Amino acid sequence: MFWCALLVSIGCFLYPFSIHADPHKLNVVATFSVLGDLVKNVGGDAIDLTILVGPDGDVHTFEPTPQDDVILSKADVIFENGLHFEHWLDDLYSASGSKAKRIIVIDGVESIKRDREIDPHLWHDVANAMVMVRRIQDGLSMADPQHAVYYQGNARKYLEQLDQLDQWVLGQLEIIPLQDRKLVTSHDTFGYFCRRYGFQLIGAALESMTTEAADPSAAQMAGLVKKIRETKVKAIFTENTHRPKLMQALGQDVGVRVATSLYTDALGKPGSDGDTYIKMMRHNVNVLTEYLK
Ligand SMILES: [Zn+2]
Repeated sequence: MFWCALLVSIGCFLYPFSIHADPHKLNVVATFSVLGDLVKNVGGDAIDLTILVGPDGDVHTFEPTPQDDVILSKADVIFENGLHFEHWLDDLYSASGSKAKRIIVIDGVESIKRDREIDPHLWHDVANAMVMVRRIQDGLSMADPQHAVYYQGNARKYLEQLDQLDQWVLGQLEIIPLQDRKLVTSHDTFGYFCRRYGFQLIGAALESMTTEAADPSAAQMAGLVKKIRETKVKAIFTENTHRPKLMQALGQDVGVRVATSLYTDALGKPGSDGDTYIKMMRHNVNVLTEYLK
């Protein structure tokens, strides 16, 4: 009997969409894994957190399931990135009949606009992640004032860690000579990283801020090959949310190294070296320095 009860409770613990969620806790949804980790660090044990697009998942091409309807219908608060990153969320929200408060975490960040597109990939700049954490703290405190002091304490501790991370990133990247701070990736995801950390975006195979874009034509690829040669890019980078084949073919065409995958629009799977936001940033910086120094 005891073992049976124990197994049931372990089962509930392991199953994130459990219907036995603690009714006293704030039911919180984060749209994707990177944002989910920031929310987890502020909400701690006071919230029940569900993440819609999990590790290695691609938000751009995500297709919600009926299960996601159920998750939203039970939510008290939904944290979203905004800037049309979660372009499927409005429809999902109305279909689910959810009454949850939606909180866009990027308010207060100066967004980047390029070719009439707004870049949604704010989290690659640690200073932006810190703004997001403050918005999360405000949002949770408003929805659950009883735990406001707890959220404040968690946020303060986490912000200290992020501040240290930002300093570490800045120091670490100094190893890379200015003329080699050039990025070529699958899709255009490092705009904010480049702005903050002094890199130049040479090009992206998909020539787009979303992975929904069609594969490039032969002419587009030839154009990128030419650009990579002209700018003497040392290496190009694959991403954990996009198949690596395109970049491998490109690398072969140019005769340039194809680096270990960067964590871009999602964290890595649990146990990987990118399973938290801090680890993801450290991994990315370590890979960049290894290949570009
Ligand atoms: Zn993206």
